[in-house]
Amino acid sequence: MPKYIFITGGVVSSLGKGIASASIGKLLEAKGLKVALQKLDPYINVDPGTMSPYQHGEVYVTDDGAETDLDLGHYERYTNSPVGHLNNVTAGQIYYSVITKERRGDYLGGTVQVVPHITDEIKERIRAVSRGKRYDVVLSEIGGTAGDIESLPFLEAVRQMRQELGPENAIFIHLTLVPYIRAAAELKTKPTQHSVGRLREIGIQPDILLCRTEKRLSQEVRAKIALFCNVDLEAVIEARDVRSIYEVPLMFKDQNLDRVICRYLHIGYRAGNLANWKTKVVSRALHPKEKVRIAIVGKYVELQDAYKSIHEALRHAGIANDARVYIRKVNSEKVISQRGIGWLSKVDGILVPGGFGYRGIEGKIRAIQYARENQVPFLGICLGMQCAVIEFARNVLGYKSANSTEFNKKTAHPVISLLEEQHEVSNLGGTMRLGAAPCDLEKSTKAYAAYGTEHISERHRHRYEFNNKYRSEFVKKGFVISGVYQNEGAKLAEIVELQGHPWFVASQFHPEFKSKPDKPHPLFREFVAKALELKRSEGNPGPDQPIT
Ligand code: GLN
Repeated sequence: MPKYIFITGGVVSSLGKGIASASIGKLLEAKGLKVALQKLDPYINVDPGTMSPYQHGEVYVTDDGAETDLDLGHYERYTNSPVGHLNNVTAGQIYYSVITKERRGDYLGGTVQVVPHITDEIKERIRAVSRGKRYDVVLSEIGGTAGDIESLPFLEAVRQMRQELGPENAIFIHLTLVPYIRAAAELKTKPTQHSVGRLREIGIQPDILLCRTEKRLSQEVRAKIALFCNVDLEAVIEARDVRSIYEVPLMFKDQNLDRVICRYLHIGYRAGNLANWKTKVVSRALHPKEKVRIAIVGKYVELQDAYKSIHEALRHAGIANDARVYIRKVNSEKVISQRGIGWLSKVDGILVPGGFGYRGIEGKIRAIQYARENQVPFLGICLGMQCAVIEFARNVLGYKSANSTEFNKKTAHPVISLLEEQHEVSNLGGTMRLGAAPCDLEKSTKAYAAYGTEHISERHRHRYEFNNKYRSEFVKKGFVISGVYQNEGAKLAEIVELQGHPWFVASQFHPEFKSKPDKPHPLFREFVAKALELKRSEGNPGPDQPIT
């Protein structure tokens, strides 16, 4: 049976609970322990797939095709523990399942209640993560903030689990805020005391506190928190702001958080080793030799979390190329103007990410045209690839009205369309293509040069595809289909590129979901390498300040 760590958050949201959880996972994995990470989300949506990025940030897609919370991206980036549909549980799924059972008559005439029916279902989902697998530790992160109405059933469920399993098999870690009040020049512990108080009211006494803070916690402040919150002094852990999020596991290790966890959970202590992480990831991230500027042309640019995995994948590529990547977020609705194009002339590479709906499309197409005509390294992802296809059809093949049927159903040139509209295939499509699919690469292409292998697997989240009816026309004009998926009569374009351009590559899949700081994704790595080449050739000194 695995040991359990339940991670809660208090005072305010956005303290970085996902990164803290992933970092603890990393810390334990470094000792040779097998960990699983899970996120419990208290909202009623069944999954975040239907939520706007403005509400929720990025939807992270797993190999098994689950549309999940972006914290699962952190779990996979920090650890080697793969995640899937069992690793993200929402209140929507819990209620859906309980109500379905009730309709089926499973409760035999009983009254169905939050306790025990909803809480039992939650406990079942927590146990399901490790069923049939050999995990040493399961970390379950509970979304929301202590005191929220909707997280109550989840907190009650984990309270019961701790009661049933005993303190040596299940512990609570609470992430809290210790604000610095400038006028008083003091760190304040009261919000933490109140937050722990809220948990105690519902029967949860945290074992370990992770204290988010701008300043170092003095011994005195630590002692005060320990006393008022009823935790051991060594279990008050400082979680200071750091320059790179990948420093967090090192910061926790320096304070012996792993030792404390092992002691509480009765796990024989092993030192563990984060040396590689320190030298190959953190040091390189903090002290790069060069700088490179990449524009992300999207419609959700003002939102920090909408392109989370893309930002991280660019950082990983920066680490691999010994360069700091400055990301310029360019609003695709503004690119059509001269000023928008002006922004693009100040970067070394252009990335067009995924998205849904017509808004911002023309600007993306314009940015792609700029990259193609000016030989600027370009990476297109999902909708970004579809826009590259439309751009080529309009401006190279001369089909001025070319479009995706997502934006214009009646277009004379549906270069991007639904599979069923393409007639050749009837048994695929219609619904979203989700999760991992194999792809074969053509030799002597940029894609092959990047991956160094013929067979790859990447994750998808889209409905529309390149329309193969136009294939030969495109190919004749220097458009290369370098990656294809072949199955049941379907032959889908998965990667496209351009001949005679230094590096213009776009994929129908989402490479960003498989990039890790110590294993950068080949397409991102090459994209940034080519952007650096462009920068060097222009002798551009690069900006001194980050462009954001
Ligand atoms: N809207 C496009 C489709 O459904 C692209 C989706 C995406 O970029 N994730 O095919």
